[in-house]
Amino acid sequence: MSRKNHIEIDDGIVKRIGRRADEERLRAFVVGGYVRDLLLGRRVKDIDIVVVGDGIALGKKVATEVGRSNVVVYEKFGTAMLQLDDVKIEFVGARRESYTKSSRKPTVQKGTLEDDLSRRDFTINAIAASINKDDFGAIVDPLGGRKDLEEKILRTPLEPRATFDDDPLRILRAFRFAAQLHFAVDPSALQAAREMADRLKIVSQERISDEFLKIIASPKPSVGLMLMQETGVMKVVFPEIAQLAGVDQRRDYHHKDVFLHTLKVVDNISEVTDNVWLRIAALLHDIAKPRTKAFKEGMGWTFHGHEEIGARMVKPIFRRLKLPLDHVKYVEKLVRLHLRPMALVDEGVTDSAVRRLLFEAGEEIDDLMTLCRADITSKNQKLVDQVRRNYDTVVAKMAEVEEKDRWRAWQPPVRGDEIMKVCGLQPGPLVGKLKDAITDAILDGRIPNEHGAALEYLLSIKDEILRGDESKL
Ligand code: ATP
Ligand code: MG
Repeated sequence: MSRKNHIEIDDGIVKRIGRRADEERLRAFVVGGYVRDLLLGRRVKDIDIVVVGDGIALGKKVATEVGRSNVVVYEKFGTAMLQLDDVKIEFVGARRESYTKSSRKPTVQKGTLEDDLSRRDFTINAIAASINKDDFGAIVDPLGGRKDLEEKILRTPLEPRATFDDDPLRILRAFRFAAQLHFAVDPSALQAAREMADRLKIVSQERISDEFLKIIASPKPSVGLMLMQETGVMKVVFPEIAQLAGVDQRRDYHHKDVFLHTLKVVDNISEVTDNVWLRIAALLHDIAKPRTKAFKEGMGWTFHGHEEIGARMVKPIFRRLKLPLDHVKYVEKLVRLHLRPMALVDEGVTDSAVRRLLFEAGEEIDDLMTLCRADITSKNQKLVDQVRRNYDTVVAKMAEVEEKDRWRAWQPPVRGDEIMKVCGLQPGPLVGKLKDAITDAILDGRIPNEHGAALEYLLSIKDEILRGDESKL
């Protein structure tokens, strides 16, 4: 990294904002993530501008100049946000902040650039660079952010307790940046995080979940998750995950406690997918192990039913964390089915068992197999090889069975409306029962996957089912 006192900025819009600031006789700077990522050579997305003076007014003028009217003003925070296509530009007037104990709503006063930099979360986010013409690109770094960038360390501008006390979300942000950038957290900040973890309770769930999802989306999520666990932050924001620690697995099978195993599965899956919800499914796959744990003589520890109970925990967790509910069904399905591919090996990898899994997993079958593969974490290489061979057997059999009938998108050849017509039924649970009976017969291979055979089968069973006599099926 260069130790020059200037940075290269070639964004047209930044120059334009600088010109505008010149005209208004205001000192303006780029700051925050923009400067940090430029110095790190990372891809820069959003632009953070700090103005000594009225940031909102400058934001509005720039918007008018570029012909936009979509400035969003947050009077209370003294900020204005302008969305230019996919770039977000945030304008803020340099300020000093003070907070009260019970809330994170700050009282804002005008301040100098230095005041503004020291109320930020980390020194690496508190480097400014001028965008006025006379010293365009000149770096202002009173807190030593550049040195910390080089040393890859997250340090707070003020004493860590003061920085965290003003806004406890910063504790979680430290772990998020540690995971994203692979930086260490300064030991005194870590200690303050331990002491103040409980203070995260006053922070809104939306802000917490935003940062948490960024940890999950980072290249190696275990870095952030481990910091959360070690400092007690996990217990406050995600107790179900915290409780996975110390739940022993069977000695002859898994070698790690469920928490460490889960972290490994999340890291494994993150190497092959950027899908955050698949990563979340990995995080939650064993979530019910603590509550299903039992010792069976001759078997060791068992976790009977943890996949089904775990699946039922997904929705309440999503609700509490205010995560988007449209991903609940997907995550539920993956948690519910995560043992099935490997269980096939014990049951015998028969056509009918594979058909059934393809049908139940549907379009999620590939993601399920990705999860299943990531779930292999033993240190015993012989065992790993064995499990991988089993996995490959299942995958090969799936490809073969899938090719014939496309089971993942399959529907039984006799549909609901035909069932109603043939049996003289109104919509209701009986229709579903008849459809399930046909589905089972085809998946089991008792009748061929054809309309004629399915209809014939329907006619042969309908009277018994309609009479409520299902015992002979
Ligand atoms: P990202 O790459 O995720 O956008 P960022 O550093 O730009 O990272 P933002 O949340 O966009 O993070 O915030 C922009 C800047 O505003 C930060 O770099 C930091 O200087 C400051 N900032 C944001 N949130 C806080 C906070 N909670 N406390 C103090 N400063 C903050
Ligand atoms: Mg940003």
